Amino acid sequence: MYDTLIIGAGPAGMTAALYAARSNLKVALLEAGIPGGQMNNTSDIENYPGYANISGPELAEKMFEPLETLGVEHLFGRAENIVDQGSYKEITTDDGLLQAKTVIIATGSNHRLLGVPGEEELNSRGVSYCAVCDGAFFRDEDLMVVGGGDSAVEEAIFLTQFAKSVTIVHRRDALRAQKVLQDRAFANEKIHFAWNTVVEEIKGDNRVTSLVLKDVQTGEVREQAAGGVFIYVGLDPVSDFAQDLGILDDQGWVITDDHMKTSVPGVFAVGDVRQKDLRQVTTAVGDGAVAGQEAYKYITEHEE
Ligand SMILES: Cc1cc2nc3c(=O)[nH]c(=O)nc-3n(C[C@H](O)[C@H](O)[C@H](O)COP(=O)(O)OP(=O)(O)OC[C@H]3O[C@@H](n4cnc5c(N)ncnc54)[C@H](O)[C@@H]3O)c2cc1C
Repeated sequence: MYDTLIIGAGPAGMTAALYAARSNLKVALLEAGIPGGQMNNTSDIENYPGYANISGPELAEKMFEPLETLGVEHLFGRAENIVDQGSYKEITTDDGLLQAKTVIIATGSNHRLLGVPGEEELNSRGVSYCAVCDGAFFRDEDLMVVGGGDSAVEEAIFLTQFAKSVTIVHRRDALRAQKVLQDRAFANEKIHFAWNTVVEEIKGDNRVTSLVLKDVQTGEVREQAAGGVFIYVGLDPVSDFAQDLGILDDQGWVITDDHMKTSVPGVFAVGDVRQKDLRQVTTAVGDGAVAGQEAYKYITEHEE
């Protein structure tokens, strides 16, 4: 029986583990993949205090390192269900059952699919959702990035170090990304923009060769050659396994209060999986700190 089981080892889960372990709780961190979460998919983080610029994987490593020394148990596996048994919670994983007095859900979100013909068929053959993972395979290619938020613009800039050109395809006439990123993209000679434009189809036999684009204002459809397309069109919560607890909103985001408490006593949620406005590393670690501390309070109060 763990005091605290944290599901997901992104920045939110790792920080929750840090705070819970420093309160002397018996902590396990269950992770289905590589610790670091979405940070592993980002090239440059320039808005994490203390670092002018740090790569996502490097920051992930720095967050993970101290946990072992603190005695946090790192478990490999995927949570599939959580049942509230009152004084403890039972977590079904793909590798058996776990029990914990408190659970902190830190499973983040997944990139959303465009849902157009060719996307699935050409996935990993020119269709990518991770510039930092795949960018170097696209030297001297004409690339497209779909989206207009921070991730789209940041990764478009990153791709210019390999690509011949990068066209940002955005369905609106203005970007949503932070001003500093917008300025950098506008000043980059390799970056072009297809405004008010949506992707209708991704074409290619074995690899992406072109995209069919539609101007949403005029209805005009055209085909543009591209060696690859990177898609950043939003996020969906990873929360299916928590459905039975009744803590999700209608889109699947976990509802919490300011203490990261859900409506189920002893179950907390942190980071991108929460219903909130700003999904970033800084907000994820803030949530994690609060939940680690709240788990400690919950356990001491219930043991008195
Ligand atoms: C391309 C890109 C660029 C970004 N750039 C920046 C940036 O510059 N600055 C910034 O602050 N933020 C940036 N972000 C956002 C930032 O990475 C996220 O806000 C942050 O990682 C969220 O942390 P998290 O811990 O909530 O979730 P995540 O990082 O998503 O971690 C969740 C973890 O849970 C695991 N998991 C999921 N389901 C299960 C399960 N059932 N069982 C066990 N484990 C599970 C996953 O494998 C994952 O490791 C970027 C994101 C992307 C994709």
